[in-house]
Amino acid sequence: MAEQHVLVVGGTGGIGAAVAEHFGGLGAHVIAAGLPTKAPPPESTAITVEEIDLAKDGQLEDLIARQARLDVLVNCAGIIRRRLEFQPEVFSQVIDINLTGTMRACVAARALLAASQGNIINVASMLSYFGGPLVPAYTASKGGVVQLTKSLAVAYAEDGIRVNAVAPGWIRTDLTAEIRSDPEAERRILDRTPLRRWGTPAEVAQVVAFLASPGAAFVTGAVVPVDGGYLAA
Ligand code: NAD
Repeated sequence: MAEQHVLVVGGTGGIGAAVAEHFGGLGAHVIAAGLPTKAPPPESTAITVEEIDLAKDGQLEDLIARQARLDVLVNCAGIIRRRLEFQPEVFSQVIDINLTGTMRACVAARALLAASQGNIINVASMLSYFGGPLVPAYTASKGGVVQLTKSLAVAYAEDGIRVNAVAPGWIRTDLTAEIRSDPEAERRILDRTPLRRWGTPAEVAQVVAFLASPGAAFVTGAVVPVDGGYLAA
């Protein structure tokens, strides 16, 4: 990864911040872009933090247009609105950030990635596979991310761009803070997770880095669970 140029959309917190730190530690030049959070990755010579809001027209596209080179795009921005997603406007907001935001980044970055023979890693979820009764928009968006990943893998292959995804299981971040504060929900998750614990953002980052690496040169259109066995149980 040394000297590779990496953009992590949603890199200002949680899994994305860990991805930014991991790539930075491997010697890449990383832009961690997203909303301000209380735990952004530490800025350094390797990592630049850029504030962007996917809900504001053009901010993502402007950031990508300013880059001279891009080798790896990681789409990590995501929101969830438990119990509110039955309201059509909330449904649209979640789809807009999680699914359309991912597509917008992939479209805006295509030419740069074609020039570098680079690759994309999207972030799916266990809810790409299961129904989510409290979060229909999040679930629909993450199902969409899987199909988008496969579609773009086929479409972008002609440019030499690989497109893959990770599907994290239950990871300790702000996004899951509400579930972790509900002992019954937490017990159900741990009972079903064969490794009997929550995952860490760093454990997801390791798999993202593998998919971005030359070791995965013949891998495209894949969705790799990082879930302590949740999907297998
Ligand atoms: P998080 O809340 O800690 O981080 C979310 C990131 O998305 C932040 O960087 C935030 O700034 C960014 N973001 C949100 N709205 C944005 C907007 N409007 N514009 C720009 N950036 C925006 O959450 P996380 O757990 O790190 O989630 C990261 C990704 O992983 C998401 O796509 C999430 O769906 C996915 N995921 C998380 C888990 C988990 O257990 N934590 C499981 C499966 C999938």
